Amino acid sequence: MKSTMQDTPLSIGQLVRFGTSIHSSAEVITWSESGPTTVTFGELGKRAAQLAHALRSIGIDGDQRVATFMWNNSAHMEAYMAVPAMGAVLHTLNIRLFPEQLTYIAEHAEDRVIIADASLLPLLTPLLPTMTTVRHLIIVGADPSDVQAPEGLEVLGYEELLAGQPEEFDWPELDEHDAAAMCYTSGTTGDPKGVVYSHRSIWLHSMQACMTDAMAVAQSDKVLAIVPMFHAMSWGLPYAALMVGASLIMPDKFLQPAPLSEMISTLRPTAAAAVPTIWQALYAHLGEHPIDLSSLRDVVVGGSACPPSLMRAFHEEYGVHITQAWGMTETSPLGTSGRPDAGLSPEDEFDLRCTQGRFVAGVRARLVDDAGKELPWDGTQVGELEVRGPWITGSYYRNDAPDKFDDGWLRTGDVGTIAPGGYLRLTDRSKDIIKSGGEWISSVELENHVMAHPAVREAAVIGVPDPKWDERPLVAVVVRDGVTVSAEELKEFLDGRVAHWQLPERWTFIEEVPKTSVGKYDKKRLRSTHADGRLD
Ligand code: ADP
Repeated sequence: MKSTMQDTPLSIGQLVRFGTSIHSSAEVITWSESGPTTVTFGELGKRAAQLAHALRSIGIDGDQRVATFMWNNSAHMEAYMAVPAMGAVLHTLNIRLFPEQLTYIAEHAEDRVIIADASLLPLLTPLLPTMTTVRHLIIVGADPSDVQAPEGLEVLGYEELLAGQPEEFDWPELDEHDAAAMCYTSGTTGDPKGVVYSHRSIWLHSMQACMTDAMAVAQSDKVLAIVPMFHAMSWGLPYAALMVGASLIMPDKFLQPAPLSEMISTLRPTAAAAVPTIWQALYAHLGEHPIDLSSLRDVVVGGSACPPSLMRAFHEEYGVHITQAWGMTETSPLGTSGRPDAGLSPEDEFDLRCTQGRFVAGVRARLVDDAGKELPWDGTQVGELEVRGPWITGSYYRNDAPDKFDDGWLRTGDVGTIAPGGYLRLTDRSKDIIKSGGEWISSVELENHVMAHPAVREAAVIGVPDPKWDERPLVAVVVRDGVTVSAEELKEFLDGRVAHWQLPERWTFIEEVPKTSVGKYDKKRLRSTHADGRLD
C-alpha cells in the first residue's frame, strides 16, 4: 500500500525560501579588519536571487559547477543559497590545497565559474591557466580590471554583476536526488576524491544537525562557524542555520586565536565548531589573555580526536562543554555526536564524552575485521568502521574506488570499538596505527596521554621503522611557551598510563606540528621528515 502523502522534493530552493522569509531577521555577521558587518537572512535572500540571475546571465542554466574559493563570509553564504537553489552545483574549493591538487579538482569537476575572495587571488590567479574549463572568475571585494586573466576567461566584479538584478528568483522545483553541492576529500593518499551531495541529503542532514542531541542548532543560537565552508560544507552549519533561523558568525580570514577570542567576547556566540587544533591554539592564547566564554552553551569539536585534557580544561577553567562529533566529507559529515545518557556520574559522563559519541538516527554502522566478518558491539573488539545512510556517499564522482565500499557500505578507514549503546571509540585511522612486534599501538591514545602533561601544547605520534619490532612510536612534542620538559620526564609521566611495552623511546621537540589543509595533524608530512626514525 502506498501512502497518501504529497511527494514534494526536499530542495535547497525550499530551504532558502523558508529561511529568508520566516527567519528574515536572523543574521550573518562577518568579521573584518574594520569590525563586523551584518546582513539579515531577508537581505541575503534578495542578494542570493540577484546572484542567481547574474549566473543565469553568464550561461549557468543547468547543473554546471560553480566553484567558490572563499573564506567563511556572507558572500559565500549567498553562493551556498543561490547556486544549488537555481539548479547548479556548488563546488567549494579548499583554498589550502597544493596547487596541483586544486588544478586536478577544478578540472575533474569541470568547474565553469569560480567566485573568489579578493584576498585569495594571489593563490588562485597563478592557477587559472591550468583550469581549462573555467569561463568566468567573479571577484568579491576588488576591482576586476586589476586581474590578469588568461585568454578565454572573463573576470567580473561580484557587486557589479549583482547590481540591478531582480531581488526575487523563482527557485525551480528540482528532483531531490539531483546534485546540489560537491566537496573533494583532501586526499592524504592518491588524488582527491569528489563527494556529491544531493538536495535530499543536505536537507535530511540539516534536520539531523539541528536535533538536540546532535549539534542542537536552534533559532536562539548565534553559531560561530570556524570550520571552513570548504571543509565538508562547514559541517552542515550554513544550511542548518537556514533551516531554523540561527544566526551565523563568520570569521572570514581571521582564524588566529586573538581575533577568534575577540569575536567570542564581543559577539557572544552561543555555539561554535572547529577542529581540535583551533581549540588548542585558542586555549594557549586564553592562558595569557583570558576572556569570558560564558555565552558558549556548546562547542562542537570533530575532524580528529579531541584530547580529553583539552575537554577537561575548557570545562573546568571556562565552564565550556566540548561535544565531540565524528564524521567525514563522505558522511556530510555528521555521523556521531558525543552526548551521553542523563543520570551518569560526572566521571562516567566525562569518559563517554571522550568517545567519538553515538551514531545519529540516519546512520547505520558496523565494525568488520580484516576478513570482512562483522564484529559485536562489545566495546572491546576492534575493527574497521563501515557506515550507511541517506547522507553517506555511495560512490565518488567519476572515480570507482571499489576498495572504499563494501557491499553498499562506506569503508571509513577508521578503526575502533563500539560499545553497547552505540558509543564509538576510535583507536586510530588504519594508516596511522602503529604495528609493534605484532601488537597494535594507538597513536591517538599516546597523543592524548602526552597532551595531558601540563607542559605540552601539542603532540603527534607516528610509527617509524624499527629493525626489531617492525615499527615503534615516535612522539613529536610542542612545548608550551615559557616552560621546559625533557623526554625522560614525559616518559615517566606516561609510565603507568600506558602499557610498559608501548612507552616510546623516540622523542623529538618541534616548534609546531605540521597541519593539513583543514587543520589536522599532518602525519604524512611528519612521517616524511622523520623517515627511518630520524629525530631532526
Ligand atoms: P580528510 O580525510 O581530508 O582529513 P575529512 O574531514 O573528511 O577529511 O576526514 C575524515 C576523517 O577525520 C575521519 O575518517 C576520521 O579519521 C577523522 N575524524 C573525524 N572526526 C573525528 C573524531 N571526532 N575523532 C577522531 N577522528 C575523527
